[in-house]
Amino acid sequence: MGSLVLADLAAAAAIGTRGVEDLAPISLAVAAVAIATSLFAHRGVRPEPLALVALLGVFGMALLGHGVMPDGRLLGTAQLAIILLGAGLFLPWHQRWHLGALAAAFGMTAAFVISPLSVTMTFVDRGNLVVAVAMAALTSGLGHQLWQRRLRSMLEQQFALRRLSRYAQRQEAHVTELNRELNRVARRDSLTGVGNRLALDEAVSRLLEQGDRLRPLPFAMVLFDIDHFKAYNDAHGHLAGDAALGRLGEILRRATRGSDLAFRYGGEEFLLLLPDVDLNGAIAVAERVRAAALEARDLPPFTVSGGVALCDPADGRDPEPLLRRADAALYLAKRAGRDRIAADELSVAMQRHEIALA
Ligand code: GH3
Ligand code: MG
Ligand code: MG
Repeated sequence: MGSLVLADLAAAAAIGTRGVEDLAPISLAVAAVAIATSLFAHRGVRPEPLALVALLGVFGMALLGHGVMPDGRLLGTAQLAIILLGAGLFLPWHQRWHLGALAAAFGMTAAFVISPLSVTMTFVDRGNLVVAVAMAALTSGLGHQLWQRRLRSMLEQQFALRRLSRYAQRQEAHVTELNRELNRVARRDSLTGVGNRLALDEAVSRLLEQGDRLRPLPFAMVLFDIDHFKAYNDAHGHLAGDAALGRLGEILRRATRGSDLAFRYGGEEFLLLLPDVDLNGAIAVAERVRAAALEARDLPPFTVSGGVALCDPADGRDPEPLLRRADAALYLAKRAGRDRIAADELSVAMQRHEIALA
């Protein structure tokens, strides 16, 4: 603003406007005020009073310009209008500052028009000046109102957007939670609380993919089957049969210590995956399950048989041979009289080989 005032003065001098020497001190003083206020504004002082002082200073100068520089009065009127519009642009964030600037500008114009300073102006010029200031003030006031309305609607839109985005975030979290629950339910056997076939297939693939192709991490599989379960159902009813299944599920979940590696293979057959155990370790776990089933005294007694097989690295990532060997081991246990645990021949040979190497 200071530079504009100085440029205006220089232009008036260049075209040889009459009275420019009288205007010079006023212009210089206003430029100094404008530059000083902008410097203060940079030092963290509140900007509104500074902007008001600068605006009214330049406005006062333009009024005085009318008085002391008769040739420049058309330029001066335009300047007044621009300054009043400037009040509208600079002070939109505080209505009272804006209105204060307009009221002060009106007061100064009225005082100027009736003061001896405007004696060089004709009556019509003075009237024109008042009309120009009134129109500029009106435009500025309207602009301010429009600006405020637009600002309010922008803020409202922003709030609405923020509300929508919070709602979307909550919905997303809800959907994620539902998906997690869906995944959990889709992989759980509802009667026994252990994993179902889908969970079993995924867990076996995961275990087979651990380690590298040549040296998969060792794990054991135990396949359990309730003995004479058909007869159990016939003797005690299906509900008692379901209770026995539920109890065995509970025992198996406890045996895997919450690591989610117990599954219902189908009917009254269950399966345990035991990572990082040797054959003796797997047999010990299976024996504990068998013994726990015998201790279920609140239900009609039932027994389980189990077949243990160790994962053979030679089978690579195919789960079928391991399942077949666990099933063969279970068959051995059944054939040997049930209520017992047996291991398949290959697992026994693998264990012997390990011991020989050690
Ligand atoms: P084995 O000792 O040779 O295993 O004889 P088993 O009678 O246990 O074997 P079989 O395969 O003949 O019978 C399995 C029975 O398991 C038949 C079926 O009614 C029962 N069963 C399968 N699923 C359920 C179930 O969800 N609830 C109940 N109550 N019984 C079931
Ligand atoms: Mg069976
Ligand atoms: Mg059975």
